[in-house]
Amino acid sequence: MHIPFVDLKAQYLSIKTEIDEAIAQVLEDTSFVGGTLVKQFEEAFASYIGTKHCIACANGTDSIEILLQAMGIGAGDEIVVPAVSWISTSEAVSTVGATPVFVDIEPEFYTIDPIKIEAKLTSKTKAIIPVHLYGQPANMPAIMEIAQKHDLKVLEDCAQAHGASIEGKNVGIWGDCASFSFYPGKNLGAYGDAGAMVTNAPALAEKARRIANHGQLLKHDHQIEGRNSRLDTLQATILSTKLKYLNKWTAARIHNAHRYSELLDNSSVIVPKIRTNAQHVFHLYVIRSTQRDQLNDYLKSKGIATGIHYPTALPFLPCYQSQNNTVDHFPVAAQYQNEILSLPMYAELAEEQVTFITNTIHKLY
Ligand SMILES: *Cc1c(COP(=O)(O)O)cnc(C)c1O
Repeated sequence: MHIPFVDLKAQYLSIKTEIDEAIAQVLEDTSFVGGTLVKQFEEAFASYIGTKHCIACANGTDSIEILLQAMGIGAGDEIVVPAVSWISTSEAVSTVGATPVFVDIEPEFYTIDPIKIEAKLTSKTKAIIPVHLYGQPANMPAIMEIAQKHDLKVLEDCAQAHGASIEGKNVGIWGDCASFSFYPGKNLGAYGDAGAMVTNAPALAEKARRIANHGQLLKHDHQIEGRNSRLDTLQATILSTKLKYLNKWTAARIHNAHRYSELLDNSSVIVPKIRTNAQHVFHLYVIRSTQRDQLNDYLKSKGIATGIHYPTALPFLPCYQSQNNTVDHFPVAAQYQNEILSLPMYAELAEEQVTFITNTIHKLY
């Protein structure tokens, strides 16, 4: 048996006719950038998340950068980010000229630990970027309380959490604004790079839209300088087609996650916990083991693909060496980077595949 980490082919085949027709229509129209299909996707996605505005852009990293710029964040500012995320979260902060300030993660849920945020705030702190890591919502009620108390902006990094919610409110509508990625392997994935920004604030939406399109809203109306970060029409139509299936695919991911957790109950690995009152959308199913490397090698030898998200926590990456971050400052992130292991996770993962994977794990121990 070979079980891939994600199976984009299985998903494509399940909606092939619809996707092929949508793509053929774009080729027929030869309108490749902008136009009604992009606008339609923006409206559909805004309505899916429950925000007034959605601005599509080229990728998820750009969506963080552009929102930071649109909020006026730049040189001299400090932005609070979690110690565990994909590098885009902190990289985007540096790209706009600000400094990422790392905060350790909650031991139970792996998202930024609100209890540890206040100690990191200075007069330069302008914003917090919570990341809904692996599809689990960060503790937004606590984060919003801290942000309000200290007059900080909140930009939610929702790249791994399309459709996740906490206390009945979708991620992406808690903060001032939110960024999404539609990288192919994400819960809603394009067939190339794609991203989007959402917000309820009209002025912020307008500024972000200008920045993403050379400072213009209308052709040649360059009120400011911006950049080129547009979503192309092919990706927009693919995303609109796939958005209709997102709830169904999310339900299948959640079902698979529950199966994993049931079957791994009474094993020596630690399974993910779901926050109370939250919908975790399981972009990744991440277990922990003190014998992670041995387990990983064993699963690979049995044909099971795995991943590590992420092998080095952000504060310890060579690119942040100048911060002199030490293990003592980020004990949870430091410990977990050696224990975490992501198992195959996608909607099409079959019952017998989950059983094979969990049986294999039981066999090792
Ligand atoms: C994927 C990802 C991004 C960036 O998205 P791209 O579209 O690859 O630029 C940002 N943040 C997190 C947490 C991600 O997982």
